[in-house]
Amino acid sequence: MPATTASGACVQLISGACSHLGLRRRRNEDALLDAPGHGVFAVADGMGGHPAGDEASRIAIDTLRERVHAAGGVAGLPVLLEQAFAAANDALIAHALARPDHSGLGTTMTALLVRGTTAAVGHVGDSRLYLLRDAELQQLTTDHTWVEREVAAGRLTRAAARNHPHSAVLLRVLGGADAGIDRLELELQAHDRLLLCTDGVSNAIEPDDLAAIARRQLAPADVARHLCEAADAAGGYDNSTAIVIDVTHASIG
Ligand code: CA
Repeated sequence: MPATTASGACVQLISGACSHLGLRRRRNEDALLDAPGHGVFAVADGMGGHPAGDEASRIAIDTLRERVHAAGGVAGLPVLLEQAFAAANDALIAHALARPDHSGLGTTMTALLVRGTTAAVGHVGDSRLYLLRDAELQQLTTDHTWVEREVAAGRLTRAAARNHPHSAVLLRVLGGADAGIDRLELELQAHDRLLLCTDGVSNAIEPDDLAAIARRQLAPADVARHLCEAADAAGGYDNSTAIVIDVTHASIG
């Protein structure tokens, strides 16, 4: 999606995505949206067991896609994100009411909307957005997990949190009692690389290894595939999903 900056430089988004079932699961409850033409990217990680988990992530991603496409770039990014997440939450609650056998369904969703060189992020749950800038990988989102809250309060170390038996306990999900979204904005720079992933990637791959793979000078689709392969190589205990987005200089205006 070409976009012109104030300096007249033209940037372009090049993306690639991968989603693996893993080696231990029978269904892939992750879903993704990789639409550089519309400037929208998202990952979602459903829960609630078969068949509700994969329904939940699909409903959230479909609702986001419909809302963004319908807005056609008219609405401001924060408003559009807020409305899309609220609509996804409503759709999940409506689905649970209509299908009592699906009660308890919920999903994470981390979404990136790009207009011009501004990126807006909406986030609920423990999927993640990272930014690779100047060779440094930085996690931009905060997990809405019990262990993250304990780390923030100083009651748990980061290392202990990674292997904690309650590491999967989520405090906020779409379709749940608390679906409050975190929002942030960032100005994109040429040569930025963004990474969206589910916890099947970030839990399976050690942070240093994740950063090393993210730094690989390969096409986004290849980096995304390497991340899913690394998650499988680490045991493949969970579904793994990654979207890699490169911000490139296309030309000088
Ligand atoms: Ca997962």
